[in-house]
Amino acid sequence: MTHGPRGTRRGERYDRRHQIARDTAARRHRPEDPCARCWHPLGPMGSHLHYDHDEYGGYLGFSHGAEPCPVCGRRCNLQAAAEKGNSLGGYGPKRLDL
Ligand SMILES: [Zn+2]
Ligand SMILES: [Zn+2]
Repeated sequence: MTHGPRGTRRGERYDRRHQIARDTAARRHRPEDPCARCWHPLGPMGSHLHYDHDEYGGYLGFSHGAEPCPVCGRRCNLQAAAEKGNSLGGYGPKRLDL
């Protein structure tokens, strides 16, 4: 057990920050904007697009998430998360349940 000013709430704050960043980006989004991973057009904004970030916490932009890219068929964000998980031996919780 550790007692300290930094508890287990970092996830909460991260979510909030992520939400704001996503909203801002979603407002600027255009259907022809490219996916951050495969560079094919994303199409209209929707919850199927994931606001993607790299392992350093920098935002990449939107990428294909819940629905595969119509051009190359990849679920770019989920695929990247899976590759990350494999290479680092378990990065964060599993989020691949579909
Ligand atoms: Zn993509
Ligand atoms: Zn694609």
